[in-house]
Amino acid sequence: MTPAKSEKILKELSEFYGDVKADLDFSNIYELTVAVVLSAQTTDKQVNSVTGELFAKYPGFSSLAGARISDVEKIIKSTGFYHSKAKNIVMLAGMVTSTFNGELPRSMESLLKLPGVGRKSANVILSMGFGIPGLAVDTHVGRIARRLGYTESDTPDKTEKDLCGIIPSEKWRDTHLLFIRHGRVICKARNPECGRCPVKGHCVYFRELNAS
Ligand code: SF4
Repeated sequence: MTPAKSEKILKELSEFYGDVKADLDFSNIYELTVAVVLSAQTTDKQVNSVTGELFAKYPGFSSLAGARISDVEKIIKSTGFYHSKAKNIVMLAGMVTSTFNGELPRSMESLLKLPGVGRKSANVILSMGFGIPGLAVDTHVGRIARRLGYTESDTPDKTEKDLCGIIPSEKWRDTHLLFIRHGRVICKARNPECGRCPVKGHCVYFRELNAS
């Protein structure tokens, strides 16, 4: 994959999907952080269905830090893995309040110290919340990066490195959003709808499929 070819792919996806936005509902960095932790192993829609009540009851890091875990569990139960998620978000809020003086840190290194925050979540927080370049690799992003020929890796860290080596940093956030949208709408894990794909002319997977 060359930077020039990548630019064409991103332009064509962008023209096809228009202005893409994050599907998680949030209005500040606190809400984004909690929503991102809750989004593990579930859909953004499911997270959005519980965060209204959660944020009404606990509107910031300091109130969530003082919450009873069992109360939080009741609210977030439908997002799955609710014992560990409730514990993580309450501990995370406690750590932000005590260790970081109530301010969410703005570096990958510090974000990774927070319970429930891995590299993918930290990249989402940096790019969506702070406007700091980060390219979060989830299952959709990884699959599309492989099919289009950005990487041959199955691991998120190597995929992120390969993508970031080709795509300029000012495009990382939009690339994440575009690949997720593409993965949900057309380039699904099973039975991708290649016939109506706007970037099939650049796709390694499509070429190999039609060569065999
Ligand atoms: S051609 Fe098919 S596999 Fe390739 S990106 Fe498009 S939908 Fe995905």
